[in-house]
Amino acid sequence: MRKSFLLLAIALYSISISAQEKPTLVVGIVVDQMRMDYIYRYWEKFSENGFKRMIRDGFLCKNAHINYAGTYTAPGHASIYSGSTPMTHGIIGNDWFDKKENQMVYCVYDSTQTSVGTKADAGKMSPHRMLVPTIGDVIRTNSVFKGKSIGISLKDRGAILPAGFSANGAYWMDYTSGDMVTSSYYMEKLPVWVSNFNKQKWPDKLAKNGWSTLLAIEKYVESSEDNSPYERLMDTKETPTFPYDLPAIIKASSYYSFGISPFGNTLLGKFAEQAIINEDLGGDENMDLLAISFSSTDMAGHMFGPQSIEIQDTYLRLDLELSSLLKMLDDRVGSGNYTLFLTADHAAPSVPQLLIDQGIPSGTVDRKDLRAYMEKALDTSFGDADWIRSYYNQELFFNYKTFDAQGKSIEDGYSVIRKALDDYDGIVSVYSKEDLQHPLPHNKFTQLTRNGWNQMRSGDMAVQYSPGLIEYYNKGTDHESSYNYDTHIPLILMGKGIKNGVSSDPVDVSQIVPTVCMAISVALPDASEHRVIKKALH
Ligand code: ZN
Ligand code: ZN
Repeated sequence: MRKSFLLLAIALYSISISAQEKPTLVVGIVVDQMRMDYIYRYWEKFSENGFKRMIRDGFLCKNAHINYAGTYTAPGHASIYSGSTPMTHGIIGNDWFDKKENQMVYCVYDSTQTSVGTKADAGKMSPHRMLVPTIGDVIRTNSVFKGKSIGISLKDRGAILPAGFSANGAYWMDYTSGDMVTSSYYMEKLPVWVSNFNKQKWPDKLAKNGWSTLLAIEKYVESSEDNSPYERLMDTKETPTFPYDLPAIIKASSYYSFGISPFGNTLLGKFAEQAIINEDLGGDENMDLLAISFSSTDMAGHMFGPQSIEIQDTYLRLDLELSSLLKMLDDRVGSGNYTLFLTADHAAPSVPQLLIDQGIPSGTVDRKDLRAYMEKALDTSFGDADWIRSYYNQELFFNYKTFDAQGKSIEDGYSVIRKALDDYDGIVSVYSKEDLQHPLPHNKFTQLTRNGWNQMRSGDMAVQYSPGLIEYYNKGTDHESSYNYDTHIPLILMGKGIKNGVSSDPVDVSQIVPTVCMAISVALPDASEHRVIKKALH
């Protein structure tokens, strides 16, 4: 009797401890445009202390997916960190047609702000178009704003959207100077540590010796030959081959080209270390968030495609950056004192022409051609007029003024477009606004289109292209669809509150943050979902 009481007391005591034990730092890592299968493909060439260590010590979800259509960078970061989808957080693309402003807008551009750290417009940014808070805001609120939230990336949207409205800072690269900059939304002048970092001229230092492969080039047997017809050319290059004379390429273009090289990720690794040291992240009992988005993987992915040696080399080097970051976190914050996740904002398809040459269904869609085709269909049915305001992100916006003036209803517009698109190769589904506002038949793709469609911001109609089609060129790649090549992303959770293991259960990207919130015992972001990845939790 007494013994069982004692055991019960011990059990209750340990439950209360585990419910309260919190990490001092949460680290979110987004690898821009990372496909899940890169982990398998490059496994033999990875070091022991990067991806392999995360998987060895943490929890790997082998079947994690983006759960909405419109698999772009901005919706990806907004969805991961808010635990929701564009239907709720409103970031429906990197840029989109704004119905009220009657023009294209960029997801984080904010004309009311000024640049900090550059004279260029690169800093006139803020999260003002985001409709819901992120885990950054939860962590700030949790400690009555004593804990910090900081976002870093080469891309403004990769730094701003994760860190939240109440972030202490978000930093990204101004491609004209190569400096890390921010916006007056966060501060009036750069912290001394950021100015000092910029004084070091890291982009020039890291680019100085050019880009050659990390390993001997014949070891890259997991990739196509170096000189393939499926890659785009960097400025000054006549073939897509190593070595890359980066100083010459940067001179001929801008520091954007530095970002295409894997050293863009090296720079972010160094910047992350400086942020941890100088902001003392994880240094006291007030939990902090560091959100890092590695951009070079995406910039190189667009240029060279998933089968290139350039992409493999970028991942082998990223693995080393992750290894140093983990070592630094262990040394400074303490192994087991931080909670970390690594995922991607979207994946990407193989280069269409490479697939076509192998007889695999693929191809490209010319957005301008498709828009002109829809305009012509409306002109033919209703008479010549300006019927369409925008066709972008696979969404069509009608010109209501024209419909009113010509006495046509929007429903008439739907039926003309539906009928016309029956004869347009490469479109498998067409949805009207009404279709998306009412319960749809249960089907994976209709659900993903619905999750990506926002009542306040999205178009009058949405279309879904056939599997394999992308709006792009035949060389390099892009991402946008709701098919597995764009949605299947890696997910590794690690550290305090996370169990060791692996699972093939389907997981949605919007489940990452609620799971992390359970692991670190804080509130859920306002609009996040509450289905968590149970197997990863104690
Ligand atoms: Zn991206
Ligand atoms: Zn991209």
